Amino acid sequence: MTTSFYPPQRTLMGPGPSDVHPRVLAALSRPTIGHLDPEFIRMMDEVKQMLQYAFKTESPLTMPISAPGSAGMEACFVNLVEPGDKVIVCQNGVFGGRMKENVERFGGTAIMVEDDWGKPVDPAKVKAAFAAHSDVKILAFVHAETSTGVLSDAKTLCQIAQHHGALTIVDTVTSLGGSELDVDGWGVDAVYSGTQKCLSCPPGISPISFNQRAIEVIEKRQTKTPSWFLDQKLVMGYWGGGAKRAYHHTAPVNALYAFHESLVMLEEEGLENAWARHRHHHNALRDGLEAMGIGFLVEEPYRLPQLNSVFVPEGIDEAEVRSRLLADYSLEIGAGLGALAGKVWRIGLMGAACNKKNVLLCLSALENTLSAMGADIPTGKAIAAAQAVYNAN
Ligand SMILES: *Cc1c(COP(=O)(O)O)cnc(C)c1O
Repeated sequence: MTTSFYPPQRTLMGPGPSDVHPRVLAALSRPTIGHLDPEFIRMMDEVKQMLQYAFKTESPLTMPISAPGSAGMEACFVNLVEPGDKVIVCQNGVFGGRMKENVERFGGTAIMVEDDWGKPVDPAKVKAAFAAHSDVKILAFVHAETSTGVLSDAKTLCQIAQHHGALTIVDTVTSLGGSELDVDGWGVDAVYSGTQKCLSCPPGISPISFNQRAIEVIEKRQTKTPSWFLDQKLVMGYWGGGAKRAYHHTAPVNALYAFHESLVMLEEEGLENAWARHRHHHNALRDGLEAMGIGFLVEEPYRLPQLNSVFVPEGIDEAEVRSRLLADYSLEIGAGLGALAGKVWRIGLMGAACNKKNVLLCLSALENTLSAMGADIPTGKAIAAAQAVYNAN
């Protein structure tokens, strides 16, 4: 007979999902109630308000989609792109490529602006793309590229789009809660994120927000939105309907309890404090790794604190290191993707996983594993280097 599934207790320091806070896990197991229950609707309103805080937006069209981050991406493109539309898509890693797929599947033309993996989106190239193409409807880019660990300058990119009268779609799956993000202040028109990166929550929910400009574009569509489930006008009947909410789909009730709890925790901590915490632990991890002779792929000014792409030491089988970390320390770190496969690890410091205990565990486990495998690295220095960062504060 098949028996119950008990997952092992892991420490998740990869590119997501990241560690879920025990308070969030506890919220998941509270009794399921009806998705039109007045108490549930009261909780939904709190989720919307707290999401506005997290995104820094006043837009009432801010809500979670009942599906993972990829669905949030699709929701933005399926509602805003119509056949024949021109969309400038910036690609400097995996996720820009998915944006291109979305544009093309909904009948748009993707004008690609490419930057090397490990570099941020170059605003000069975006300006040149606008200069070379008239009637661009949308500029789309990834704020925090999880495949490489790069932060792009969203504020500047949004200014360029506004100057040319284009809308912006911004992927903030890895930046929300981990790096500065100011949706209204930067004039982001459509934004999506995920719960499993810096929000200490399990995967499966995608917060999104559309501002008034984006909503006007959606309302003036010439063609019917080709997705029923993600049609924003229909979703709003449920999430925006106030007391008279219409049934659209059955909300993932318990997953939303968990998301609510993670947003309560974000409010308690304070958004700016959450950004600073990610930076602080990144600094300690960085000094520890560098003391071990391990270097970073991404240059300091646009390095993501929550996703550290670091070079695998010479002659070391990176997959073997990851499986030893998992077997011996129950610690998960991520592999490199695409051209970076085999060359880098991606060490996440996201949400609840971003803490001192994890930084010290990761440094100690990595150093011990690498030296057991015969890597030529300095030993005995990493922990002290990280502790020096902690002791300075
Ligand atoms: C993880 C991620 C996604 C996809 O989110 P899922 O929840 O896995 O669907 C999209 N964009 C970026 C930048 C991500 O890191």
